[in-house]
Amino acid sequence: MKNKKIHNQHLLEKMPVPECAMGFTRAQVEQMFGLFMHNFDEWMSGQTTVLCTGKEYDHAKNQYVAARCAGCTEKPGGHGGVYYIDDVHRFILGLPIID
Ligand SMILES: [Zn+2]
Repeated sequence: MKNKKIHNQHLLEKMPVPECAMGFTRAQVEQMFGLFMHNFDEWMSGQTTVLCTGKEYDHAKNQYVAARCAGCTEKPGGHGGVYYIDDVHRFILGLPIID
């Protein structure tokens, strides 16, 4: 395992910029993986995704405020289910899931 080379490192350079402040949207991931989308879904099963609602909780103000990322607030209801950048990277690199 320690000698296992990561062959897909170069693919990370071709990745798009995450549309959501919290990660990649479903549409982005579908575009990235195409026919391999089911492999990604399988790999992701049971792992945590984030829900972008376009709002975030401000603990100081004790209320929900507009999300910091403009893209999240422009889209009504936010981006929906979003995948952590690290998870997408790990999948591309063929690394095991971490929980
Ligand atoms: Zn978002």
